Amino acid sequence: VEAQAADFALAVDIGGTKIEVARIDRSGQLLTPISKQRVPFGPDGSADARRLIDILAPYAQQSRSQPGRCYGIGLSVCGNIDPHSGEAVLVPNLHWRNLPFGQMTAEALKLPVYSATDVRMAALAEALWGGAQGVYNFLWATVGTGYGGYLWLNDKLYGGLHGFAGNFGHITLDEVNGYPCGCGRKGCFETFVSGPAIARAGQAVLDAGHSPALAHLAQDGRVTSAMVFQAEAAGDLEAQAIVEQVIRLISINLGGVVNLLDLEMIVMGGGVTHGSPDFVARVSRRIRDFLMTVEARRDLRVIHESFPNAALFGAAAHVFIESGVNCLAKG
Ligand SMILES: [Zn+2]
Repeated sequence: VEAQAADFALAVDIGGTKIEVARIDRSGQLLTPISKQRVPFGPDGSADARRLIDILAPYAQQSRSQPGRCYGIGLSVCGNIDPHSGEAVLVPNLHWRNLPFGQMTAEALKLPVYSATDVRMAALAEALWGGAQGVYNFLWATVGTGYGGYLWLNDKLYGGLHGFAGNFGHITLDEVNGYPCGCGRKGCFETFVSGPAIARAGQAVLDAGHSPALAHLAQDGRVTSAMVFQAEAAGDLEAQAIVEQVIRLISINLGGVVNLLDLEMIVMGGGVTHGSPDFVARVSRRIRDFLMTVEARRDLRVIHESFPNAALFGAAAHVFIESGVNCLAKG
């Protein structure tokens, strides 16, 4: 396909609470600022697909009046999307099960729509335009509301049998004493290291009266993960212990994946990794304690994500790839 410099994809990332939209060109450059809106939920607690499409409609309309060609809508969704049909198989945060959202969007907005799981798109963006350019074996890991990621092996995305590979956050740590997990099981790593897990641990030390800093920060008595990081930065010993434990468990978990797959790089993103400025550097140091070989300890690189929202950029790349258009390396 002969593409022009002004050509673009309309990238859409649907998270558990917010939706982000932007036009992105073949070299991974934003052509518009990233627009953010809240995901509309219906009375039954599930994300309202019709209202979501209504939100996207003006962006699709604007795309038609641009100088370049719009190759379609890249849809990144925070759940399991069938890589072949694009159907939203299971999206717990939106309460979607077997919803052909991509197809509905394509019919309503009269543009080709390419749907995929957000973590898969994030890994794609890092490989094409981000810090993992030229890296043959790496892992994308996001720590936020959830904890998980995706694999890039032998210089391509690795989905596994169903396209669900990369769920290292749902490796069990303690199914006896652990907490219930969003996946329906108990004691997954995610339940110990995610944003809500950090908030819960902070709440426990506040309620026990052990953290003066959190007591000061949580005016209404409700601790957030951001407060735990603030308290940590202020020197609060209990908050420091919570963050240290999170870094230790992530390092054990990802160290295991590196031991399994002999990876060259881990790219980390998500709200929790922005909790303190040196979070990723600390994981990079701590993970060495859990790596089996001297070669891995020497060569593994752990870096921070290259984008404000890697999944959004990957959603654009997905459109170009599916349209047979070459993506250009970032200059
Ligand atoms: Zn789980």
